[in-house]
Amino acid sequence: MYDVIVIGDGPAGITAALYAKRRNLNVCIISKRESGLKKAEKIENFYGFPDGISGEELYNNGIKQAQKLKIENIIDEVVELKFSGNFEIETVNSKYEAKAVILATGVNRNVPQIKGIQQFEGKGISYCAICDAFFYKGKDVAVLGSGNYAIHEAEQLKPIVKSVTILTNGEQIIENRNIDVSVMKKPIREFRGDSKIKEIEFEDSSVKQINGVFIALSIASSNDLARTLGARIENNHIVVNSNMETTVPRVICMWRLYRRTITN
Ligand SMILES: Cc1cc2nc3c(=O)[nH]c(=O)nc-3n(C[C@H](O)[C@H](O)[C@H](O)COP(=O)(O)OP(=O)(O)OC[C@H]3O[C@@H](n4cnc5c(N)ncnc54)[C@H](O)[C@@H]3O)c2cc1C
Repeated sequence: MYDVIVIGDGPAGITAALYAKRRNLNVCIISKRESGLKKAEKIENFYGFPDGISGEELYNNGIKQAQKLKIENIIDEVVELKFSGNFEIETVNSKYEAKAVILATGVNRNVPQIKGIQQFEGKGISYCAICDAFFYKGKDVAVLGSGNYAIHEAEQLKPIVKSVTILTNGEQIIENRNIDVSVMKKPIREFRGDSKIKEIEFEDSSVKQINGVFIALSIASSNDLARTLGARIENNHIVVNSNMETTVPRVICMWRLYRRTITN
């Protein structure tokens, strides 16, 4: 059992872990190591680097700084958080327990640019299997995504719904996982319906009837993870107070990407 688990190892996650360690807390970082910083060719707006520094080097320096303090850094992908007095952090390969969780997973990914997604949000388009699966009991649903997170969401849905289809929208499904649901790799043209989603039209003009679609692109974002814990999300931002605390006790957000709402 850790005192704190930090999810993410970019500038926000490493900073949070350093501070936790210096408070003598038993802290661990879990991250997939895909920091946005690694893509930045040169960072010139940070204090202390008169000639700039490559994003990759700055990122690696952060990792080294954490290693120097002997902070455990696990490379894995978090797919679910659960709360039952303490937090259970489920990754692709294992499970961990902590008294507190810091979400430092970086920028939320974009919603896919497929016609109909925004129109049917809350009307058949969902972003959280564990939250909404029950509404689709005995119904036909799809999961949009092609990575571990999509497979995890499909597995959550399977015991409850009538059928689950993974829609990869033209991408290859992750190869190293055994999956027991049908997969459609065709690119999607549009989601259609009336007051609720009813069908998916593919680029080849074929159509599939559907009752619900769960968006699970890329890896689980902080919004996705916070949502599974029941934290309040507004306009695609996690609601936090002036201490960056979410509406769930002991779940804290890092960095400037989250909405700051004074709730008390
Ligand atoms: C091309 C580019 C250029 C940029 N240039 C600049 C610049 O010049 N100056 C500047 O100030 N900023 C720049 N940025 C922005 C900067 O990279 C980000 O502001 C910074 O990286 C945010 O830090 P973070 O710790 O919040 O998130 P990130 O650095 O993105 O780190 C998040 C970490 O969380 C991990 N993670 C996410 N979800 C999960 C999960 N479910 N399970 C496990 N791990 C997970 C990711 O793998 C990643 O390692 C640039 C970004 C890009 C993409």
